[in-house]
Amino acid sequence: MSSIDEIPVRQLKGVSALKEGELHAFGIHTIGDLLNYFPFRYEDYRIRELTDVKNGDKATVLGRICSMPVLQRYGRGKSRLSCKVEVDGLLVTAVWFNRHFLREQLTLDREVMLTGKWDQQRRQITVSESEFPGERDSAKRDTLQPVYSIGGNITQSWMRKTMLAALTQYGGMIAENLPYDLVDKHRLMTRGEAVRRLHLPGDTREGGEARRRMVYEELFLFQLKLQAYRAMNRRRQDGVAIRVDSDVIRSFAEALPFQLTDGQKRTVNEILVDMRRPSSMNRLLQGDVGSGKTVVAAIALYGAVKAGYQGALMVPTEILAEQHARSLQRLFESFGLQVGLLTGSLTEKRRRDLLAGLQMGIIDVVVGTHALIQDDVYFHNLGLVVTDEQHRFGVNQRSILRHKGGNPDVLTMTATPIPRTLAITAFGDMDVSTIKEMPHGRKPIRTYWVKHDALDRALGFIRKQVASERQAYVICPLIEESEKLEVQNAIDLHMAISGAFPDLQVGLLHGRMPASEKDEVMGSFAANETQVLVATTVVEVGVDVPNATVMIIMDAERFGLSQLHQLRGRVGRGEHQSYCILVADPKSETGRERMKVMTETNDGFEVARRDLELRGPGDFFGTKQSGLPEFRVADMVSDYEVLELARDDAAELANREAFWLEGADNCYTKLWNVLRRDPIFQGEQLD
Ligand code: ADP
Ligand code: MG
Repeated sequence: MSSIDEIPVRQLKGVSALKEGELHAFGIHTIGDLLNYFPFRYEDYRIRELTDVKNGDKATVLGRICSMPVLQRYGRGKSRLSCKVEVDGLLVTAVWFNRHFLREQLTLDREVMLTGKWDQQRRQITVSESEFPGERDSAKRDTLQPVYSIGGNITQSWMRKTMLAALTQYGGMIAENLPYDLVDKHRLMTRGEAVRRLHLPGDTREGGEARRRMVYEELFLFQLKLQAYRAMNRRRQDGVAIRVDSDVIRSFAEALPFQLTDGQKRTVNEILVDMRRPSSMNRLLQGDVGSGKTVVAAIALYGAVKAGYQGALMVPTEILAEQHARSLQRLFESFGLQVGLLTGSLTEKRRRDLLAGLQMGIIDVVVGTHALIQDDVYFHNLGLVVTDEQHRFGVNQRSILRHKGGNPDVLTMTATPIPRTLAITAFGDMDVSTIKEMPHGRKPIRTYWVKHDALDRALGFIRKQVASERQAYVICPLIEESEKLEVQNAIDLHMAISGAFPDLQVGLLHGRMPASEKDEVMGSFAANETQVLVATTVVEVGVDVPNATVMIIMDAERFGLSQLHQLRGRVGRGEHQSYCILVADPKSETGRERMKVMTETNDGFEVARRDLELRGPGDFFGTKQSGLPEFRVADMVSDYEVLELARDDAAELANREAFWLEGADNCYTKLWNVLRRDPIFQGEQLD
């Protein structure tokens, strides 16, 4: 007997060549595909007592016709049909729009099932569907009916009928795809039963159980992919075992101008353990803005170099590359390390020299944008890559590096904390280190929300801070649609602010400036030659000028929460009290809500949680590739508890020796068949 995943959907009675073509458009090719095409909601035809139905709700009730129908016709085929119906002891009016052909059927004393919206005041039901019990077509009575996502010539009723036929003929062939111990442990419905129930839910309790089973299955299979990938990486042991010496690290840490926080020490240790392993590290370092992630990365890079390897730091922008190159140079100088900077704006000659230096191993640590791993860049002995979440290493990039003759350890840093549920989903293939605390002596940033008409007062505040030697940022409104407009805005705002402070140096920074000019502007702000910096979001991530204490964000409602938090994190980086002023007249509820969250909390983990609530998982990471999968049944936020279970189960399974035994006809073969459909396991498992 062949599997339902091999039987073409055409085999089913009622599926013509034409219909088959339309099903293909939904990704339905086989009977298996069809049965996995779940409804996205249900129409509720279960009979309810009218007294239980809330005003304005849609419900199905059973009644008896008490009056002759009245038909009114308007022009163009429009009509209104109504009659009195007795429902649960109440006399109500039933109204049908544009269903004049029903008039003959509405005979006195006839029983009728009405589905529609209940208007309590007028005692009226606006009927969307009606049926006469006992009729051929009364199959919907007292059921939940699936509603599928459809289109073209495929109608709901055709889909329901076809699904029923598929279930009747092939339902018995739906195979279990989860290990039986897990089905047992969580008391899950079998797959066959669950699929049947999702299409024909019966009462809600069974429908709920069916959904629970499929949510678990979906999350488990997804997590298994991540966890198996993780385990595979570890088993393979084809990375570099970087023998970092603890004493070397200790003396470097002691030379730092500050004491590491406990969180920094702990994460450094977690990273070192990974680096020393012969498998390649795939670790995420997360922590709030200003918690000191960069230093942790620097320590790891230092350790790699001292153990005989090269390191690379990949950052999103040239400004950051320059800043980090500078600060690493400063940190590593007295230890004799060579730091190189690779950006798009190097002269041809300097670029050639740098590439040669990398290839010969003269350069110990290179900082750059993602061009670092793409171009003709060859390393002498690359051991550690530090990157950020936007450049997280996919399988592709790893294999590029592998082909260049190395499989370095990779440390990924996040700009702001990521809510747990998203971290498990988007970064589940990684080990995670978290820095929870801020460096000692930091004062919480004070955040205020003001309307535009208070801008003068905000500028007055800048003046006071500058008088006590501090500095300020003014962030221009975000204009996503047009960079040109954004730049123009920045130039205008710079003019206005310069006009307000004729005696101060006011800098301007935006994305369209040449790199050398950006570098100059940042350099003079860092040196306090410029007191106020007007900037677009180019300063968003990572810019570090501890003497800056005021952050003014214009039209703050245009920014997302994590972006606002990231911008706010540009201040409060030194010992001085810092302030964030949000200038906004938000029109939308979410705009107001964002301002509220920002003024209520400084905690990035809390901001992230509220951001997820406001935006939903799809938008959390913005428009950039989010790495978030689309689930068919599961909702990663509301099914969070199941997600955690599934993750733990998947991790446990992926660490079982038996799971990796090749060839043996073991109970995991089916799971492997699913996994191998994913490119990350194709040809990967055996090499
Ligand atoms: P993040 O990248 O996490 O936002 P950074 O690494 O840029 O934060 O650190 C923010 C600032 O705090 C930097 O100026 C850094 O030198 C300083 N810093 C880092 N760790 C400590 C510490 N343990 N004690 C005091 N200052 C620290
Ligand atoms: Mg290693």
